[in-house]
Amino acid sequence: MEYSVENQGHPSIDKEQTPEPGYDVLVVGAGPAGLMAAEQAALSGLKVAVADAMPSLARKFLMAGKSGLNLTKHEDAANFIKNYDAVEPLRPMLNEFGPKEVINFAQALGQKVFTGSTGRVFPKAMKASPLLRAWLARLQSLNVTLLRRHRWVGPIGNSEVHKFQTPHGDFEIQAPALILAMGGASWARLGSDGAWAATLTQASIPQSKFLPANIGMRVAWSKHMEPYFGNPLKNVRLSVAGAQSRGEFVITKTGIEGGAIYALGRMLRKSTTIKLDLAPQINAADLHKIIASRKPKDSLSNFLRKSVKLGATKRALVFELTQPMVRDTNGLVAAIKNANLPLLGPCPMDEAISTAGGVMWEALTPELMLKSHPGIFCAGEMVDWEAPTGGYLITACLATGRWAGRAAADYLSAKARL
Ligand SMILES: Cc1cc2nc3c(=O)[nH]c(=O)nc-3n(C[C@H](O)[C@H](O)[C@H](O)COP(=O)(O)OP(=O)(O)OC[C@H]3O[C@@H](n4cnc5c(N)ncnc54)[C@H](O)[C@@H]3O)c2cc1C
Repeated sequence: MEYSVENQGHPSIDKEQTPEPGYDVLVVGAGPAGLMAAEQAALSGLKVAVADAMPSLARKFLMAGKSGLNLTKHEDAANFIKNYDAVEPLRPMLNEFGPKEVINFAQALGQKVFTGSTGRVFPKAMKASPLLRAWLARLQSLNVTLLRRHRWVGPIGNSEVHKFQTPHGDFEIQAPALILAMGGASWARLGSDGAWAATLTQASIPQSKFLPANIGMRVAWSKHMEPYFGNPLKNVRLSVAGAQSRGEFVITKTGIEGGAIYALGRMLRKSTTIKLDLAPQINAADLHKIIASRKPKDSLSNFLRKSVKLGATKRALVFELTQPMVRDTNGLVAAIKNANLPLLGPCPMDEAISTAGGVMWEALTPELMLKSHPGIFCAGEMVDWEAPTGGYLITACLATGRWAGRAAADYLSAKARL
């Protein structure tokens, strides 16, 4: 195994470190992609620093752990990769560092993991902080310098000198290899503000527009839905533009959010409606028979609860979406199995779990190096790929970070041979 946890609990990981004037490899961004890139470069014996703009490291990764850190998905490689929109460029990276390797990585950092009923893999601790602490300690044992409050300001050019703003003034660090891993453009307060895009634009690096991914959709609920805000709806089939998902989502004050919504992300962004099947376990013909058997004395709400097993929130949604309320069998079957929910568009991008867009693949070599700027590599969410939640995001961040870290080491050794 490539990793050990000997230095877990290292006392100095929270200490401010002072940068040296030069490193072999400088990594910007201390999220999962940047930390992985730094580790790989350091494992090649290189002198490495990671600089992050925030006062503490990997804030978005820590936030990801708040609701259970879904590290990866227990799935065979062929199915796993289908979840990305950039299958071909990511394939070599995910082939080398996919679900199995992510699990090994977490275990080597002292984290017991478990696989949930849907195949999602979590650390038993659920949160990210124990894994992160063990990882930072391991990086320090590899002599990686961890710099906080160091905001990279560019430039992207031919120089090996990289400029930073720090609370103590502007600072320059020299490094022949630079790995950019500054994340996407959501949750700016955690550091992932996408401000780097302007610096890359100045250097004419091709980028595609940031778009919210894994984001809730806005809905104009009537007052009748207010008592249901915050309630989860389980076992719903959702369809949009030929794509389907089945699972759970939550009714929020402003709309709908949750795994079953995020799974349709790309399609939903463009859609003004979504179709809901609130009873996917009953086929239409059987539901028809059940509804046709309703006795006149049964109130509709009671009947839907008892005979169709629709809970209070599902029933509220049937009434919300069927105005005026239908009473005939065909109409009720349609209201339950083919309900049309009008959408007002995605919630604000800063609330998105991740963003699509970023550095375009055409700007990068297969080694993740900028074609126009040898020695500068990109990794993680700042590269133009997207995937639903389910552990796909962190897995690809780790896989691209690992790839870029190794490629930077190869680049430097090839340069040294010249
Ligand atoms: C609420 C929430 C829950 C999530 N849950 C999951 C989950 O369970 N599973 C999953 O797979 N994914 C999840 N994600 C997504 C996951 O956290 C991100 O995809 C991942 O953190 C991206 O990693 P990254 O290393 O590319 O970038 P980031 O983690 O965004 O790190 C980028 C770093 O770069 C730094 N930076 C930016 N600009 C500069 C600059 N100019 N100079 C210096 N530093 C800079 C930032 O401060 C930041 O620390 C979740 C996200 C959120 C918000």
